[in-house]
Amino acid sequence: MIRVEIKRRDGLARSGLLTIDGAPLLFPAAIETETIFPSLGARQHTNVPLSAPTGFAATYIKNNGEQPIAIHPSLDNPATSGDCVMVANWQTALSNPRNYVKWLVALKEKTPPDTIWYAPGSALPSTVHILCYSGFDLFDFLAVDLKSAQGIFCTPEGDLPADAIHAGICTYEGCRNHDLKAHNRQALLHEAALVRQFIGQSRLRELVESRCRMNANQVAILRHLDNQYTFVERYVPVARSGVLRANSAESIQRVEVRRFAERLLSRYCPPKAGVAVLLPCSARKPYSLSQSHRRFQQAIAGRAHELIVTSPLGLVPRELECCYPAGHYDVPVTGYWDAEECAVISGILSRYFARHQYNRVIAHLDGGALKVAEQAAQACGITLEYSCKEHPGSDAALATLNQALSGELRVKDDRLHGMLSWQFNVDIDTRGITARGHFPELFYSKGTTQLFSLDTGTGMLRPTFDGWNLIPAGYRVHIDDFIPEGDILAPGVVNADPEIREGDEVLVIGARAMAVGRAAMPAWEMQKSRRGVAVRVRKIKRLDS
Ligand SMILES: [Zn+2]
Repeated sequence: MIRVEIKRRDGLARSGLLTIDGAPLLFPAAIETETIFPSLGARQHTNVPLSAPTGFAATYIKNNGEQPIAIHPSLDNPATSGDCVMVANWQTALSNPRNYVKWLVALKEKTPPDTIWYAPGSALPSTVHILCYSGFDLFDFLAVDLKSAQGIFCTPEGDLPADAIHAGICTYEGCRNHDLKAHNRQALLHEAALVRQFIGQSRLRELVESRCRMNANQVAILRHLDNQYTFVERYVPVARSGVLRANSAESIQRVEVRRFAERLLSRYCPPKAGVAVLLPCSARKPYSLSQSHRRFQQAIAGRAHELIVTSPLGLVPRELECCYPAGHYDVPVTGYWDAEECAVISGILSRYFARHQYNRVIAHLDGGALKVAEQAAQACGITLEYSCKEHPGSDAALATLNQALSGELRVKDDRLHGMLSWQFNVDIDTRGITARGHFPELFYSKGTTQLFSLDTGTGMLRPTFDGWNLIPAGYRVHIDDFIPEGDILAPGVVNADPEIREGDEVLVIGARAMAVGRAAMPAWEMQKSRRGVAVRVRKIKRLDS
């Protein structure tokens, strides 16, 4: 009897508690197969290749309802909520990145989300990070034991010859006793524990970006998965707590980075402004808190719409500087932008300026950011004005910028309007709404009625019930006819706006109660799961008849 409790999610990866015949086990985990599935050793025909066509796979793979349920990319999927599913031969996919991702998408799309995923014979200290990142949870010792038999010393960075056991690399018990098998098993458990920690902190992506450097196939898997944006995006939370570390070339393809630009270009409503000023970013986030941006804002004095040009996000309008990940990223600064950065970011700028027209666009930039702005201007046929060619923060440059704006009208500062459009895809009349608080801890109200507050951890707006009244549609979760006593569980959800992602602010609507809270899983998962918290509720309102 297996019980699954998913506690944390990080993209496709999950961590939580697995109970096997009453014994608890934290996952992702490696465990003796005989302990968890005693009858699996006697089951026949489980070793069908992943590439087998439907007819062949259907002839051999038979499920009699016993755990784990064998699944295969070319077969219909018999798994139901709470099952443990098994994908045999997944280790062979690791050397075929294109098929790895193709098979993974095929398998994930037809399997209920609240299942636990077992990859027999696949996990090594050097592969467990990418396996978990792909949504596998449970492993065994077959692959490391095979390495031991081959005289190979396993590390998270890859294989070494057996005599590395004497090199002082590791001081686990196995190495102290010169026991290669014990070392390799311990190294796998150690790496699985590390992966669990990174999932718990919502930082697995950064561990994977770092670990995969030692293996070209793993880098290729990461890139192929990033190319499946529509598939992966549904799994990725709308905001995380903590810093997004954009330290590798792949960072620019991260879902969070791409989603920011997609929303900027499809949802965001800028204020009415004749002039836009393009500004460089600052290390301090949100930018407004930096010394350099205080000086820019003094020079501009509200006479232009401020747009920050930055890698890897592309373009961040001033009003969105707190939105995740604009207020939460860190990137190595060299002043040099590589060709891919330039191409992606100038693409975002030119799409933005094709959609939103200004009478004048002033580039207050230097270096890579200036180059990107020039590429974009050429691509979309706008003419840039320059208030500096270098040192945007210098007194001379700021004086030129001030001078360039003389006579221009003030642009209405409407941070709330911009953030609401980006987060909820709405164009709301914010007249009469006032902000108070100490930036970035902002509260918005109309008269004495509080409407929104800004969560500084994630940069998301939190609407009150009155705030929700202003948002005409979207981000609703409909529940059955009951009064929630706390968080909303997945089985209670009748319907949910498909746009909802984990971390989104949502309005819960039922016949007898309404609630405000934060989605703990994406809409599609709320509808396909039979267990787990769907919405973490902040406030409940009974609708008494
Ligand atoms: Zn060791």
